[in-house]
Amino acid sequence: MEQFIIRKTLGRGSFGIVYKVRRKKDNISYALKQINLQNKDRKCIQDSLNEIRLLASLKHPHLISFLEAFPCGRYRYNLKLCIVMEYARGGDLAKEIKKHKRLKTKIREQIIWKYANQISDALSFLHSHKIIHRDIKAANCFLTSRGDIKVGDMNISKLTKHNQKARTKIGTPYYMSPEIWNYMPYDNKCDVWALGCLLYELAT
Ligand code: ATP
Repeated sequence: MEQFIIRKTLGRGSFGIVYKVRRKKDNISYALKQINLQNKDRKCIQDSLNEIRLLASLKHPHLISFLEAFPCGRYRYNLKLCIVMEYARGGDLAKEIKKHKRLKTKIREQIIWKYANQISDALSFLHSHKIIHRDIKAANCFLTSRGDIKVGDMNISKLTKHNQKARTKIGTPYYMSPEIWNYMPYDNKCDVWALGCLLYELAT
């Protein structure tokens, strides 16, 4: 944690707090997510670290890249997992939708097609590495300062072995595919369903 200076709080999610930080060594801004690991056992922490380190090896122009992950806090009661990620300057699509609602304006169709292409590209890349995102939603699609998409928040994504369908019921209800609702085995198509919901949301 000593390598970073906290600049401001970006927000709170169901997993923890996200800060905008600056790395002392090179003055680059990052988003640092602190997840509370209070009373979690070593195995759970090690599994999370392993998954994040694996995600850090994946680089794609439309994915938020992971820089590093480390535990912080000396004792079990204040143990946290810190995940350092690429910082998206343009906010996220949930904020974009809110802004258009407030102004009573529509997002241009051309822009929605651009988002559709870029998110599909990112998903196709993840799926080719046997990773299901499992939480595609407006709040997890970030924007760069140039208005391009970076898909992020893969904390609950699950590495799936070849041909093995995941069974965990997890994710955001509004974007949840029928097979997940019905406790049936599911695969990477649940991300495509969620993308469909997101595109509907953007268009309406
Ligand atoms: P949930 O945890 O339920 O998925 P969420 O997606 O809103 O909800 P977080 O992902 O923890 O929660 O994000 C909290 C805030 O931090 C949001 O406002 C989000 O836009 C911001 N944020 C998260 N990651 C980044 C990032 N890489 N760059 C810029 N802002 C980010």
